[in-house]
Amino acid sequence: MRNADVFPRYRGNMEYFCLGCGSRHGVDELLYTCPTCGGVFLLDNLAFDRLAETPGDEWQQIFDERAASRNTALRGIFRFYELMAPVLEEEDIVYLGEGNTPIVEASPHLAEKTGVRFAYKNDGQNPSASFKDRGMACAFSYLKALVRRHGWDDVLTVCASTGDTSAAAALYASYVGAPLKSVVLLPHGKVTPQQLSQPLGSGATVLEVPGVFDDCMKVVEHLAEHYRVALLNSKNSWRILGQESYAFEIAQWYNWDVADKCVFVPIGNAGNITAVMGGFLKLHRLGIIPALPRVFGVQSHHADPVYRYYSVDDPAEREYRPVTVTPSVAQAAMIGNPVSFPRVRHFAEQFEAIGGRGAFQVLQVTEQQIMDGMIEVNRHGHIACTQGGECFAGLKRALELGLMAEGQSAVLDATAHAMKFAGFQDMYFSNAFPPEYGVVPDMSLANRPELLLDAADKDRLSPTEFTLAAAKAIAERLGLQGK
Ligand SMILES: *Cc1c(COP(=O)(O)O)cnc(C)c1O
Ligand SMILES: [Zn+2]
Repeated sequence: MRNADVFPRYRGNMEYFCLGCGSRHGVDELLYTCPTCGGVFLLDNLAFDRLAETPGDEWQQIFDERAASRNTALRGIFRFYELMAPVLEEEDIVYLGEGNTPIVEASPHLAEKTGVRFAYKNDGQNPSASFKDRGMACAFSYLKALVRRHGWDDVLTVCASTGDTSAAAALYASYVGAPLKSVVLLPHGKVTPQQLSQPLGSGATVLEVPGVFDDCMKVVEHLAEHYRVALLNSKNSWRILGQESYAFEIAQWYNWDVADKCVFVPIGNAGNITAVMGGFLKLHRLGIIPALPRVFGVQSHHADPVYRYYSVDDPAEREYRPVTVTPSVAQAAMIGNPVSFPRVRHFAEQFEAIGGRGAFQVLQVTEQQIMDGMIEVNRHGHIACTQGGECFAGLKRALELGLMAEGQSAVLDATAHAMKFAGFQDMYFSNAFPPEYGVVPDMSLANRPELLLDAADKDRLSPTEFTLAAAKAIAERLGLQGK
């Protein structure tokens, strides 16, 4: 076995650390929120400083060698095991091909049109087609470790969601199998058949109640308080930990030099942006990257509590207020009271302390800009979802405001695959947005299939005649030259 295939020997000493009251709790129990104050946790490795005994360039080498590992426990997000959850054993690690998503340079035409160099990191190329798999791989590996240590014979994993969280949770639960069982709670009638198909296909128990997402959330939180269930919504700090791998991969791709990078991330419940900042800070603490990149959060004007908070210049004057959301095409980020807001504040302070003013910023974009953005980038060979379109709109906004310095380039997060959000593309092409969205499509971009012959022709003509008729119709439609 090559060195890069050998599972690391280092073990950390992890604790939950409450951002509300500062209390600490051991990780031999799955705690969703702080039992003392109800606050959200971060996971803290008390033995982190021992990692600093290895110089930063040696860590770079270790991670670079591991990138070619054939050990599946080290193939995905746990390539960065020591920075992630170094309390797990090799046998605990669940690998479904998550992580290592490609960073694709903007098409030359698109970059020229936009006036800046940028790339997309396609997190839609994860197994359930969104970044949520990074967090679930970590959360389910931890659950497996708990099951092994406690000998549990029945564990119910529960989440409330209408989209990517339930798809990812159901996928990982069905792969691990007994004693894990997956339950997904959805608001009845508020999900499309496509949104339903992933947890159903994974064999999860799909339960519905009347109401909206927030109603479901309250129900599962009540369940978590009173019954032994593992709650997988994004207060779960193991998910945040797994999502840090996104930052590690960006740093590694750019050869551990991200000083001139601006990383754009859409903000919904704010777990992802928390993880991205937390991840870069860890690399910086260990000297693996010499300088932090800049991080730009992006929010729609229909769901922008984090933008509003940071739009106040003087930190002493800032006040957090949840907002009432209105319908957004960036549906996965349509959240008025993000549960991870305390985590954002925690890391944003550290980010600015090291990177200076402007190291962390939040931008606001319109629904129109998000939709136009998604349509435009995908017409240039990208595969961005609406939230990926939101990042592109954020990049354009940053350029407009003169926020990016000469020589800086951008990395945009396409958080899910375009196909998950095909419904919004359909609405754009057929000019069918309900008025609440406030999106007016550019109809010159409306792309629809054209039927060239009708069914009667198919019946009337012999197979050979049909082929000739169809070819002739196509040649006429395209104005093809004979040869
Ligand atoms: C969950 C999700 C988001 C929002 O991420 P948060 O961590 O809630 O801020 C954005 N895009 C997609 C595709 C998602 O699934
Ligand atoms: Zn607390």
